Amino acid sequence: MTAGPDHPITDVATVRDVRDLVRSRARSAVEVCRDALSRIAALDPHLHAFNTLVSDQALARAESMDRDPDRWRDAPLAGVPIALKDNLCTRGVRTTASSHMLESFVPPYDATVVSRLEAAGAIVVGKTNCDEFAMGSSSENSAFGPVHNPWALDRTPGGTSGGSAAAVAAGLTPVALGSDTGGSIRQPAAMCGVVGLKPTYGRVSRYGLIAHASSLDQIGPLARTVHDVALTLGVLAGPDPADATSAPEPVPDYTAALTGDVRGARIGVPRALLEQGVDAEVLRALNQALDALKSRGATLVDVDFPHARYAIPVYYLVSTAEASSNLARYDGVRYGFRAEPGTERGGTPEAVNGAAQAAPYVAAPYDLKSMYAKTRARGFGPEVKRRIMLGTYVLSAGYYDAYYLKAQQVRTLILRDYEQAFAGADPVDVIAMPTSPTAAFRIGERVADPLQMYLADVFTVSASLAGLPAVSVPCGFTADGLPVGLQLTGRRFDEATLLRVADAYERDTGWSKQLPPILSR
Ligand code: GLN
Repeated sequence: MTAGPDHPITDVATVRDVRDLVRSRARSAVEVCRDALSRIAALDPHLHAFNTLVSDQALARAESMDRDPDRWRDAPLAGVPIALKDNLCTRGVRTTASSHMLESFVPPYDATVVSRLEAAGAIVVGKTNCDEFAMGSSSENSAFGPVHNPWALDRTPGGTSGGSAAAVAAGLTPVALGSDTGGSIRQPAAMCGVVGLKPTYGRVSRYGLIAHASSLDQIGPLARTVHDVALTLGVLAGPDPADATSAPEPVPDYTAALTGDVRGARIGVPRALLEQGVDAEVLRALNQALDALKSRGATLVDVDFPHARYAIPVYYLVSTAEASSNLARYDGVRYGFRAEPGTERGGTPEAVNGAAQAAPYVAAPYDLKSMYAKTRARGFGPEVKRRIMLGTYVLSAGYYDAYYLKAQQVRTLILRDYEQAFAGADPVDVIAMPTSPTAAFRIGERVADPLQMYLADVFTVSASLAGLPAVSVPCGFTADGLPVGLQLTGRRFDEATLLRVADAYERDTGWSKQLPPILSR
């Protein structure tokens, strides 16, 4: 089925629907895959959610699955099309992190999450557009151009996993993977009206994820329902010998935890944090969501986060420090792009950096150092360069103690605020707040003002700094028809409780059943 005036899409299948249809052979994996590919062909020209499609590979895999139904009969994701953020390595398939630096990089191996998804029967259809190296809050920092929000094409889908969020919201695939360093799964999920989970740090292997900030990065799913997110997390989670930070904690059956019962659950609400800077419509949607949880039997408890106001500066010190170190490897020798002598003028990198060189070409020295400098000057976009400079500065001798070390100390205080809420005198099970202070903003609106862009993360960075699991679930719409997200944060490795509360809330509402206008064009 193709979207278009004659074929409006009136319903979009969930992961569970697709999986059940394929397992029972009511639909073949090939039919499901063709549907996903034709929706992508019809809608992606408007969205630019994908950097790369692997249609032939996906259809070949679907065919082989259909030939061997016994093998896949119990597979948790049998025949489910999935989109992967383009910072997850895929063997033999270009993986760019939406950077010119890696425009032609073809990894020789799969990320652990990719192998796990495939072993569970999922079919990768393509790689999604994102902010370059997952740095940004709007998916506008891609070297290949911005992603558009399916709810309003002139708006951003949020970032950095904006392509993954847009793909799920527009029904291109029922599920996608993103990565979250300071909000990049939750914030685009909120802005596109889908569910997005950042698992506990260490819950999911990072092997094969192109690193942004290693003490913060986690991979997680985006889907239309909490059940689908729980199902996918069960496939992704668990220790991995290839990632020493992956945790040995046992992986429970997350879908079995979704009982719909929140009676007795204690939900912390940091009221003081919501007094300023939160859009009135977002606040209204949050309060309605809290009322709904309360009427289902949950108890609302005021919690205090005295160090929350330091979260943004601490995050941008720690993450840029780690990013500057992680990105040192892009030197023109080991990966991807290398500036060759005599290429100072023209070409795409300058165009992306917004400064086409007017000066005529002058032969310049081309030695090892100038090769490094030219490669990095031309391969990275402006936001990535800004972060490398900031991160290098805060790690430099003389400033390390004043900035980086201080930030790590305050990070511990932020973690203690959470510990106090979860295990103090009046302990709570989850903490509720908005995912983003505003609904989706317009493309171009914040690009010239990085500080304004960084403020989009005010509610998401603290769970990242504390390594805690957090989920965004749709909780309403603004008067302009833009989705709003409710963020719930849980205890370390207690995704089960987090998802149980999110699912109980979702059962009460019809938000996730609403489809964006692009599907009825
Ligand atoms: N917006 C934050 C940043 O730019 C978070 C990004 C992310 O989670 N990858 O760093």
